[in-house]
Amino acid sequence: MAHQWQGVIREYQDRLPFGPDDEIVTLGEGGTPLVHAPALDEKTGARVYVKVEGVNPTGSFKDRGMTTAISQVLQTDAKMVACASTGNTSASAAAYAVAAGLESAVILPAGKIAAGKLAQAIVHGAHLVAVDGNFDDCLRIARELTDRYPVALVNSVNPYRLQGQKTAAFEIVDALGDAPDIHVLPVGNAGNISAYWMGYSEYAGHTTLASMDETALHLPPVATKTPQMWGVQAWGAAPLVLGHPVKNPETVATAIRIGNPASWKFAEAARDDSGGWIDRVTDDEILAAQAFLASHVGIFIEPGSAASIAGLLKAADAGKIPSGATVVCTVTGNGLKDTATALSGRSLDFTPIEPTLEAVARTLGL
Ligand SMILES: *Cc1c(COP(=O)(O)O)cnc(C)c1O
Repeated sequence: MAHQWQGVIREYQDRLPFGPDDEIVTLGEGGTPLVHAPALDEKTGARVYVKVEGVNPTGSFKDRGMTTAISQVLQTDAKMVACASTGNTSASAAAYAVAAGLESAVILPAGKIAAGKLAQAIVHGAHLVAVDGNFDDCLRIARELTDRYPVALVNSVNPYRLQGQKTAAFEIVDALGDAPDIHVLPVGNAGNISAYWMGYSEYAGHTTLASMDETALHLPPVATKTPQMWGVQAWGAAPLVLGHPVKNPETVATAIRIGNPASWKFAEAARDDSGGWIDRVTDDEILAAQAFLASHVGIFIEPGSAASIAGLLKAADAGKIPSGATVVCTVTGNGLKDTATALSGRSLDFTPIEPTLEAVARTLGL
């Protein structure tokens, strides 16, 4: 019988802080495609794979960390979960709260959220609180709220989030037979780069700053090496590149519009311990990379995700990619969440023509 994917906790239970009898909340997240992208090989001289996280249940990698965070909440008295979010965290938290029978609250920066993501939080019944401030203000308030009330915080400062997210690295090694040489991903709050580094390190037999004690290594190594971690920020929201927080972060890539990343220290350790780097790309480069992946590879991603592809192409132009290297780029979220940005600047003419074969054929240039 074909294997039915069980979600990341059951699939990687021996490497996560859950026992076989613990009640868990899953929507079947993880098990996402690792797609070889010949069009990117051609641009880089490397062998490039794309880890397509937009096919997760709510359309982003956030689901990997939400199954672990919300499953852990079930072991507490909390009846509500809360998060600060620019979109995908709220969509995921709201959906997993439904599956767990919990209420959810989303603190979001006013006027700065893609319509698709907001729709998800609304249809899943989240309590939405728009705040006249930026993401960092929202996170501060969410932390204070969960300190003072019986509400569980499910932002990536919750260590269970990174535990779940590290499983993406496991899947990549399982698919390739070993770790890649280079892993490229977008960096916002920097939880994901920290989680991938933890996953790769644990599979190679050592722990990182972000590893949890209970999961310390008792299993034989699976990988013989770890990749260089290459992080990519947006030009106007690049605190890790500049080395200081950015007060008013600005970018078209709302998912990475973060001025003061919660996982700052973990991300710097991932960069330095892996021999990698963190760079930044412009909004124009991000939108060009999004369009390139859609039209040359066949994968529609959101702008935040496209930062990884833009960073890869920028590194290739600078001659920084060793020829023949195996490279994995995580594309973090689904393009359908933010169609307005993807279509802006395109001329769309839907003026109807005569309903005949001839008219249609003529229009198609056939
Ligand atoms: C959350 C998110 C990111 C940023 O991930 P961090 O862990 O905050 O660095 C990037 N892209 C998408 C689509 C996201 O939802």
